[in-house]
Amino acid sequence: MTVTTISFKINTNKNFEIIDITPQINSLIDIDDGIISIFSKHSTSAIVVNENEAGLLFDFEFMLNNLVSDKFSYKHDMIDNNASSHLKSFLLSSSECLPIKNGKLDLGTWQSVFFVELDGPRANRTVTLTMVGE
Ligand code: ZN
Repeated sequence: MTVTTISFKINTNKNFEIIDITPQINSLIDIDDGIISIFSKHSTSAIVVNENEAGLLFDFEFMLNNLVSDKFSYKHDMIDNNASSHLKSFLLSSSECLPIKNGKLDLGTWQSVFFVELDGPRANRTVTLTMVGE
């Protein structure tokens, strides 16, 4: 059994952006079978698994904007004016733990892994992959 950790950087271009990182993760997997933790090292971003369909991704942004309104005044906005970005991140997750089979993510037919930018644009967002297996 081996444990491997690899990080990669993402530059984002918009305040809210959903980036499919499935091909990048698959290209970095260096074990045949095991599990992988996919972790974003930022408190205004998220890692999620869902379907890469344009209408659905639009709906996802619409839902988050309705759950966390910009109309309210949040205490954290007095610090650095990005409370709504943090609050959306609270609702999601900073990591996913997924199976690896035959050297690739063992996803369902309609599943992709996304990095979700909630406070962009930003340079050098870091995603860390930790693989355990053989
Ligand atoms: Zn903040």
